[in-house]
Amino acid sequence: MLDSFAIPETNTQPDKTASLLSKARSGERITFEEALFLYHHAPFLKLGEAAHHVNLKKNGERVAYLIDGNINYTNICNVVCKFCAFYRPHRHKEAWTLSQDELDQKIEMLISEGATQVLLRHGLNNMRRG
Ligand code: SF4
Repeated sequence: MLDSFAIPETNTQPDKTASLLSKARSGERITFEEALFLYHHAPFLKLGEAAHHVNLKKNGERVAYLIDGNINYTNICNVVCKFCAFYRPHRHKEAWTLSQDELDQKIEMLISEGATQVLLRHGLNNMRRG
């Protein structure tokens, strides 16, 4: 399994790395093992450059995007992460939770602005029902 935060190992096989990057850049399919090798050995910027080259070849300058919105519907949370400045405990004077109507209004506003994705974010408010 890939560890997305793994630091690449020192490249002891630069020729193999260059050969595989060239293979990928040419559009030739690389195997899973070859991709794994590049993941562990290719310099990050070289890997990005090769990926960008392949992407341009396949898709040109065309890009796609979507409009999404994030709604925080409560700042009440009982997890109490030490790094978090967002949460408030239940009954705190700064604690808040949107009503269902307020939440619906925010979603409707996002949809009217063209959003096709809405992310609901929140503290873990075990007092909220429904
Ligand atoms: S809101 Fe999220 S980050 Fe903040 S205390 Fe709760 S679980 Fe942790």
